[in-house]
Amino acid sequence: MKLKPSKIICVGLNYKDHAEELKMDLPKEPVIFLKPPTAVIYNNDKIVYPEMTGELHYEGELGVVIKDRVKNISESDASQHILGFCCANDVTARDLQKLDGQWTRAKSFDTFCPLGPEVVAGLDPDNLAIKVYLNGQLKQSSNTANMIFKVNYLVAFISRIMTLEPGDVILTGTPPGVGPMRVGDEVKVEIAGIGSLSNMVVGG
Ligand code: MG
Repeated sequence: MKLKPSKIICVGLNYKDHAEELKMDLPKEPVIFLKPPTAVIYNNDKIVYPEMTGELHYEGELGVVIKDRVKNISESDASQHILGFCCANDVTARDLQKLDGQWTRAKSFDTFCPLGPEVVAGLDPDNLAIKVYLNGQLKQSSNTANMIFKVNYLVAFISRIMTLEPGDVILTGTPPGVGPMRVGDEVKVEIAGIGSLSNMVVGG
């Protein structure tokens, strides 16, 4: 399935173990930001390393795909408005994120939102093992049970801010172990019950 979201809503700092790694207080409300739909690529597509950055990072994340048009839904209703789940990579130009003080440029280059390999329904999103490999080496390993704000809560929370459209994707935050990628690297995000999303980094 080739997802064509009208928007991608991302959640920052949403894993307890990642917050502990950064020695940061747990957020009291989700911190959200957007990626443009033009950033989306799919399994086996190439991530292009932009000339503008010198610090390109992977962030393996669970993607939540919205089923129908929703606004102001409750947490208990959220699951019936979810089409399914995919692997996602919130590719980030870490130096530009620090430099700009807000995240639009750092998160929005073309190819910065790999999604796939497909959308899988019928999973419990609160208990999925998530792993990221760089060139076959394990870099991130956690479980969605470590999320601070759970999937249904996030869908309801975001629906109180903006109307969600069919095919919109929520990226639910990354566990510990983010790090740099270089041209020629292959990054693989693997989530239990979904499969794996592989992308190679190429020069701009
Ligand atoms: Mg992220």
